[in-house]
Amino acid sequence: MRRLLVAANWKMNGDMSSNAALLAAFKAGFNGSADTAIFPPAVYIPQLADSLKGSAIAYGVQNIHFEEKGAFTGETNLAMAQDFGCQYILVGHSERRELFGETNAIVAKKVVAVLAAGLIPMLCIGETLEQREAGVTEQICKEQIDAVLTQVGIKAFEKVVIAYEPVWAIGTGKTASPEQAQDVHSFIRQLLAAEDAAVAAKTRILYGGSVKASSAQALFGQPDIDGGLVGGASLMAEEFVAICNAAQ
Ligand code: 13P
Repeated sequence: MRRLLVAANWKMNGDMSSNAALLAAFKAGFNGSADTAIFPPAVYIPQLADSLKGSAIAYGVQNIHFEEKGAFTGETNLAMAQDFGCQYILVGHSERRELFGETNAIVAKKVVAVLAAGLIPMLCIGETLEQREAGVTEQICKEQIDAVLTQVGIKAFEKVVIAYEPVWAIGTGKTASPEQAQDVHSFIRQLLAAEDAAVAAKTRILYGGSVKASSAQALFGQPDIDGGLVGGASLMAEEFVAICNAAQ
């Protein structure tokens, strides 16, 4: 069985004191019914490493460079993330794709590098509103997954976590309905199953896009939704704890 995973993407938010308050509330509130991971801005990774020492809450960076080291001003490599105990690495978030020009090919290189380092990539995929309205949601998701699949092979998907985040639902307050999300999750799992059914049964596929405490249970109750990747609501302690604890 797949254990549910609920992750917090803090994006470019927070400071030392607000982070400390959130972390204290998370540690006190989680009931342990799901795996949890937090993606803070990279400079706060040491704060999380310190605060979460000995806890079951994992953490990681929101972006990584695929090269080992060198003249890549502003970038972070995997050895650096590992130095501070990161277990998960967010890869290919739609904001990275849209605002920072990350192509499917770049995203695939990052997933290859994360796996080679022995960490867990959380691969974000999803269609824009325009693409959904044009009826190409499945095609877009397939292209985004295929770009990675052809580089890492199907077996790697026992480890890769997929986060389906329809771009139109991110930060908009418009959550995909549980049925809309389940349809795409089921499609994604079938794509993987066509390669290897046993692997597909193990791959965790999270939903992201305006997840709230009020919508979490219905989403996580869908057969192919294995948790969530939460943005805005993960910055509110009670709300995020309630989302995590909704995962059974
Ligand atoms: P929101 O939960 O704020 O819509 O953000 C989702 C997201 O982008 C998580 O990575």
